[in-house]
Amino acid sequence: MKDPVRVVCLGGGWVAIYLARALRPAVRSGDVKLTVVSRDNYSTVHGLIAEMLTCKIQPQQINSSVREMIAPAHLHNAEIESVEVSKQDVVTRSALDGRTRTLPYDHLVVGVGSVEDFSRYAGIADHTFPLKTFADCYRLRNHLVSVLEMASIETNPKERRRLLTFVVAGGNYAGIEVACDLVDYFRFLSRTRYPELKFHEFRVALVEAGPRILPELGKRLPYLVGYAEKRVQRLGIEVHLNTGVQAATAEGVVLLSSERLPTGTIITCTGMRSSPLLDQFPYERDGRGRLVTDQFCRVSGATNIWAGGDCAAVPHPDGGSCPPLAHYAQKAGTNIGTNILRTTASKPLKPYSFNGLGEACTLGHRCAIAHMKGVPASGFLAWIGWRFIVLTMFVPSWTRRVRLMFDWWLTLVLGRDVVNPRMEERGAIWHVLYEPGQIIVAAGETRRYHYLVESGDLDVVANDGKGEKILQSLKQGDYFGEGARPGLDCSIRARTRVRLLAIDTKVADALSEVRPDAAMLLKQGKSGTAAGRTVGACLSIR
Ligand SMILES: Cc1cc2nc3c(=O)[nH]c(=O)nc-3n(C[C@H](O)[C@H](O)[C@H](O)COP(=O)(O)OP(=O)(O)OC[C@H]3O[C@@H](n4cnc5c(N)ncnc54)[C@H](O)[C@@H]3O)c2cc1C
Repeated sequence: MKDPVRVVCLGGGWVAIYLARALRPAVRSGDVKLTVVSRDNYSTVHGLIAEMLTCKIQPQQINSSVREMIAPAHLHNAEIESVEVSKQDVVTRSALDGRTRTLPYDHLVVGVGSVEDFSRYAGIADHTFPLKTFADCYRLRNHLVSVLEMASIETNPKERRRLLTFVVAGGNYAGIEVACDLVDYFRFLSRTRYPELKFHEFRVALVEAGPRILPELGKRLPYLVGYAEKRVQRLGIEVHLNTGVQAATAEGVVLLSSERLPTGTIITCTGMRSSPLLDQFPYERDGRGRLVTDQFCRVSGATNIWAGGDCAAVPHPDGGSCPPLAHYAQKAGTNIGTNILRTTASKPLKPYSFNGLGEACTLGHRCAIAHMKGVPASGFLAWIGWRFIVLTMFVPSWTRRVRLMFDWWLTLVLGRDVVNPRMEERGAIWHVLYEPGQIIVAAGETRRYHYLVESGDLDVVANDGKGEKILQSLKQGDYFGEGARPGLDCSIRARTRVRLLAIDTKVADALSEVRPDAAMLLKQGKSGTAAGRTVGACLSIR
């Protein structure tokens, strides 16, 4: 029997879901083995973010199980660490234990989407809430509830005003949807759940660099933008046009016009950039950093590498390249699947032919603007149409559709559920415990952490196949990380019960950049051990 064609898809978003659909019969018959690599085992419907943030629907309703959607293909739930085009393999790393694995491929599909652009203005990474990942959105949803709780017991009027001010940076689709839904949310909550807060105390401000909101739509359908502008005004949203955010700080926003908006919540919708993973590909990129493909979604210059969705510049049938929207990513996934099958059957490839369907933007309570192939609609009808399209085209499974419809109905009857399941996240430095004999770092394995020995004894063990040899012993105050081992073939094993302080590599590197003697910061005053010396040495190891 012939070996199956090994297809590895990087990313478990829309590209992967539609690729899996196109390849399903071939995977079932055993002709193709499809592995989808994604750090998340779910895919997010970004169009429903505003509803989730404002508790119209339960948080999980915006996610669908990738495993369910790509079946019978295989989900490899891990971080993509590196891609070796010359060797035709991909190295992944598990989130939980940091182990690496190698996946060989015959065809590689790149669908890693994009990442938030944290270079737009000062303080963006530290003081704003982005909306790209589900984790970002979930954090913001819970933060909004926390802020309302805090404001409801705040007696200082200035601080109360600051807490009840919400700034949205970016007057694009996402920014407008979130700002409008926030007004609705606060109106509802001030009437029902938070009688201590008065609706007139809330302030929602929107900052847009251009002269009008919704710049993407303005050139083609100015009537719809005009409708949205009136709606935004009626909702009382404070719009700052022709300006941008200069800096986001712990106290609020400083605009380019030097105006200051004191706030505890800055939501950023200012744009994405290409995934850093694309830097590993030796192929042409466009001005936005996306992989350039030909009309068959095949990466220019490659024969067995394909790309689609937000990370690819796929030629648009009407000229230019496809915009970063979900339905373009879906069609690219289907096109790539079809073309992989055609390649293996030595048939001519099919060009990408999807030229768009329409766009929609919700404007709060049962109101939206939309156009389908240029035919405009606004108000309640547009909103109904939007919900129908989201449900049928963007919620990718029946199980999720049913759950979502129940949620919409329940919210109508029972109101919004403002429970804040606040969870303490593990920081960048934490404690770990090992019992005698347990392996902390196995031979051949690398870890994303640096470790400081808080107590106990460890051995650095080499094994040449004939027997093992203890090369070195580590004790309290010593440090080890991937660079501190004599060789990758050594393992590190606990001799006694060992307690370690694990430090995320990114944090160690950041500290190392600022202060090479950062070890003392890590020790936070605990003196009398060799940790200062050893961490100081390790932090400079890259
Ligand atoms: C706030 C917001 C609102 C939006 N609203 C709309 C809308 O209303 N309508 C619309 O059409 N589009 C909308 N979009 C755009 C739409 O979400 C994207 O165009 C679409 O998701 C792109 O699909 P994709 O498959 O290319 O990437 P994604 O859906 O982003 O999937 C990328 C996948 O790659 C995985 N991944 C990335 N890097 C790694 C790595 N290193 N290791 C492991 N896994 C990795 C991610 O976990 C994810 O599963 C919105 C986007 C945002 C941010």
